[in-house]
Amino acid sequence: MITIQQSATSHKAQFNYDNFVFGIQPTDHIFLCEYQSGEWLSPRIVPYHNLTISPLAMCLHYGQTVFEGMKAFRQKNGRVIIFRPEKHYERLSRSLERMCMPQIEQNMFMDALQTLIQMEQHWIPDDKDISLYIRPFIIATEPRIGIKVSQEYLFGIVCTPMGLYYPEPVSVKVETQYVRAAEGGVGYAKCGGNYGAAFYPTLQAQKQGFEQVIWTDAQTHECIEEAGTMNIMIVMENKLITPCLSSTILDGVTRDSILQIGRDMGLQVEERKIKYSEIIQAFQEDKHLEIFGAGTAAVISPVKCIHIEGTDYFPYIAKDAQMYALKQQLENIRKGIAPDLYHWNYAI
Ligand SMILES: *Cc1c(COP(=O)(O)O)cnc(C)c1O
Repeated sequence: MITIQQSATSHKAQFNYDNFVFGIQPTDHIFLCEYQSGEWLSPRIVPYHNLTISPLAMCLHYGQTVFEGMKAFRQKNGRVIIFRPEKHYERLSRSLERMCMPQIEQNMFMDALQTLIQMEQHWIPDDKDISLYIRPFIIATEPRIGIKVSQEYLFGIVCTPMGLYYPEPVSVKVETQYVRAAEGGVGYAKCGGNYGAAFYPTLQAQKQGFEQVIWTDAQTHECIEEAGTMNIMIVMENKLITPCLSSTILDGVTRDSILQIGRDMGLQVEERKIKYSEIIQAFQEDKHLEIFGAGTAAVISPVKCIHIEGTDYFPYIAKDAQMYALKQQLENIRKGIAPDLYHWNYAI
């Protein structure tokens, strides 16, 4: 049972929906639950507040943390849905397993999400393109210096409003020196360390004038793997191509959804290794080529310029590109404008 303590006031009235920076304003409540002596204890939703944590807490030293990112939308009929929370739950379970952290029961996870979003749904206006970004996280809290698996954890869920922003096409560099993930590593887990480790190569690329890196595989540096913190996808002629899942690829919910929508739109879907030499060749043969990142935050992020081994190539980004149709269909499904054939929308 989740206990609930309502906040006496709401910060929503002070929030400027027309001009805000994403990720700074939490909603009024937070879900919290602690793991101690082998059990998740006292799940509760309470007014949002800062946490106190021991300076010895193991997450601060050894990076035993995982997180998720998903969204709640208001549909055109006014109802609020969470997009594919069960799929996010499954991925969270895999991340927890890889990081030796205790599993969370699906019922508790779904209950926590549903109750919290019911309480915070008034933060999603019905007249603006605003969704609620939901960030579940689990951190190791046992206060102890010493490298071992923590016996204590904190599970939290916070929410923050997000505009349905229309990302500008980006310039990217195919990275052949640094790596994000190696086979057998933690690339498929949404664990904190993966992101801190990506900052340095990304800053180097930014100094060279690119906004993001396209990661290549650690072994050969010949195959493209991900676009920054998004999955990478390619439309080549009538094919939709993306790297197959492996221990180095994050199993993106947007990736999976776009692949299904692509199939339904008649594209030939291929999940396989993609050598960057194949991309160069396709450009040289003047094939129709679109490249984009796919992820919950931006949905799709079009690539306008891809830098490969010293040469710039320019994928197709005009308004009639397939990737925009894929994105539009995904948004229509979430908004209740197109039929939800695969039961992706979880009504709260
Ligand atoms: C979260 C994430 C993605 C995208 O996953 P979604 O479920 O679509 O948001 C892709 N790659 C990395 C590295 C990620 O962390």
